[in-house]
This record gives sequence, C-alpha cells and structure tokens, in this order.
Amino acid sequence: MSTFLPFHTPDIGPEEIDSVVATLRSGWLTTGARVKEFEQEFSAVIGAQHAIAVNSCTAALHLALEAIGLQEGDEVLVPTMTFAATAEVVTYFKAKPVLIDCTPDTFNIDPDKIEAALTARTKAIIPVHFAGHPCEMDKILAIARAHNLRVIEDAAHALPARYRGKMVGTIGDSTCFSFYATKNMTTGEGGMVTTDNSEWAARMRLMSLHGLSRDAWNRYAAQGAWAYDILSPGFKYNLTDIAAALGIPQLRKCERFWKIREHYAELYREGLGDLPELILPRVAPHVQHAWHLYVIQIDAERLRIGRNEMIDLLKRHDIGCSVHFMPLHLHPYYRETWGYQPEHCPVAGRVYERILSLPLYPKMSEADVRRVVTVVRGLVEAHRR
Ligand SMILES: *Cc1c(COP(=O)(O)O)cnc(C)c1O
Repeated sequence: MSTFLPFHTPDIGPEEIDSVVATLRSGWLTTGARVKEFEQEFSAVIGAQHAIAVNSCTAALHLALEAIGLQEGDEVLVPTMTFAATAEVVTYFKAKPVLIDCTPDTFNIDPDKIEAALTARTKAIIPVHFAGHPCEMDKILAIARAHNLRVIEDAAHALPARYRGKMVGTIGDSTCFSFYATKNMTTGEGGMVTTDNSEWAARMRLMSLHGLSRDAWNRYAAQGAWAYDILSPGFKYNLTDIAAALGIPQLRKCERFWKIREHYAELYREGLGDLPELILPRVAPHVQHAWHLYVIQIDAERLRIGRNEMIDLLKRHDIGCSVHFMPLHLHPYYRETWGYQPEHCPVAGRVYERILSLPLYPKMSEADVRRVVTVVRGLVEAHRR
C-alpha cells in the first residue's frame, strides 16, 4: 500500500515559520512594515512600478476594475475556462460578464473570438493565463488598443511566467496574482495587483482600506497620526503583516519552486508522452510556462473509461487529481441569469469532458511523480480500446 498523494500540499519551510513567529512576537499583526517589504520585493521581482498587496486575487480583480471606472451596464470579456472569481467581480458592478471560448491547446481565451463579442458597452478584457501558460497578449493588446479597452490580467496561475521575454505582471494595464493556499506561492489567503499606472495604483491602494486617506493603516504606530479622511466608500481588502511574513520567504523561493515544477512537468512529458490516448500540455515557444497546473486530456475514443472514472481509479491508487475547470457558461448562474447555452463555448465544453489535472508541486518528490506516471500508464494500458 502506498500513502495517499494529495493533489496539493504547500511547501512551508523553517524560514516561513520563523518569519511568521517573529511577526507574531513583534506586536504588529495587521498591515504594516512587513506588507510594505513584501510589496517592494514583489514589484522588484516582477519589474512593475507598483504592487499593492491585498487579501485575495479576487479583491485585486475587484479593485482593478474599480480603478478603471467600470460602471453598471458595462461589459467585460472573460474566458469561460476559469475559476468563479474572474467573472463574479464583474457582477459586483452590475456589469455583464461576456464569456469567451478557449483555444483547444492552451485552454486560454481564444483571441480570434474576441472581436465578435465586442459591443459599444465593452470596457475591458480579463485574460486568464490558464495553468500558468501566458495568453496571446500581442493579439489581445492590439484588439484592446483598437477598441479602447483596458486589459486586466488574471495571473492567479502565472507566477513566474513570461510572454516574449516580458514578465507577466508588466504587460497589461493591471495584473492580479493569488497567494491562495494551492497557488505557486502562498500567504494562506492573499493577493497582489501590479500596475505601471500611478493613478490606478493610488486608487486601488485607497479603496483597499475603506477609502481612508493615505497611510491611515499607520494610525496606531508611534509616528502615525490618529486623524484620517474618508475619501471614498472603499473595501476591506488589506493584507495582514502575518500573511506578508509568510509571503516574503515564499517569494524568495519562487524561482526555485518554479524550476522544480518545470522539471516535474518534463518528467510527466517523458513518462507519458508516447501514449496516444493522452494529450499532454503544449507550450508555445515564446513563453515561460509557470506550471501551476499539469492538465492532461484523455482521448475518449481510444479508452473504455471516461475522465471521471479515470479520476476515481487514480484515487483508488492513492493519487489525488482535480479538474480545472468546469467552464463558467455551463454553471447554473450563467445559464439562468445570462442565458448561456453549451453551444456558446463549444471548445471549452468539449475540453471539459476530457481534462484532468495531475498533482504538480514542489513538495512532491521525484518518486511521487514517477509513481503517478506508472499508475496513469497502467490505467491507460488496462483500459485502451
Ligand atoms: C485561485 C484563482 C482566483 C482567485 O484567487 P483568490 O486569491 O482565492 O481570490 C482567481 N482566478 C483564478 C484563475 C484562480 O485560479
């Protein structure tokens, strides 16, 4: 009997534990010096002018849309192949999320399907770098420029990722990162938004803490002033120093984590690449894939079992898998409220039936990866037509 290999476990070392404990002992728990330090290191790693730490990527997306002045009745293009957060933030404004189909290879937003979805009310596009593979940003930015749209990137999977040599986080108008427990680096819960636009940065910072005048977070420190002004009705999205204390050492390990992810992705390719029943992820030559997820497709015509059975069998062999994602247009809310039908995004619908995500994270050992390969090969061989 092997022990169960979870789909994900975070990699938390003594550096993280010491850093968090030091913050707990410091007497300052909420937004303070550690958050500032985390923001500075993050903007340096990305190469962005501004980085604003918040308590989730969802909060970051919300603030980014608020900063561009999204209004009731506006429309925002969102890929259907994403997590709930990407589109729900659009509805916070009583604006309309317009769902766009994906490409069959990367599952990223299909740039060739964007223009047909534009209307006079379209204000922004939120590309999601699915699994960590950057979207075709040149095409997306060209369309955005031609139609005066803002580009807010959902980079929840894309740290560290590059597109034509440029770091994701420096490409669109604003870029939103997630430090949720399962992401490439974690603060438990947390997020970051980067931008080179000083006006938006100031607005997002303001709105992330109740719309209070600058540096109000500092009002209980010795040098802080008790007085503040409410400049706008904001939100409660600030990150705590406890979370930042976890984030700083995680960020410093980010490159090493990525190298392990890339190595394991290579082991999966070597171990499974010859099986015609499986379609493995493809990587465009001009990108650095962040390898947040390793999503394979099973070819249902060549196997006697479907995706769900495959996941059940893997579980019986003590391997945790997942599915990313059930496309948004198939969910009850989008069907009932916005009238989406399966035929609106046929590629995503087809892909959804075939995808499964294999475990891929630095806390796994090489032996774990090899065991997944052996079990997947065994199941394919036992169930091929
Ligand atoms: C995880 C995730 C989010 C949300 O991140 P939180 O930090 O949990 O708010 C947004 N978009 C995508 C694609 C994600 O996978």
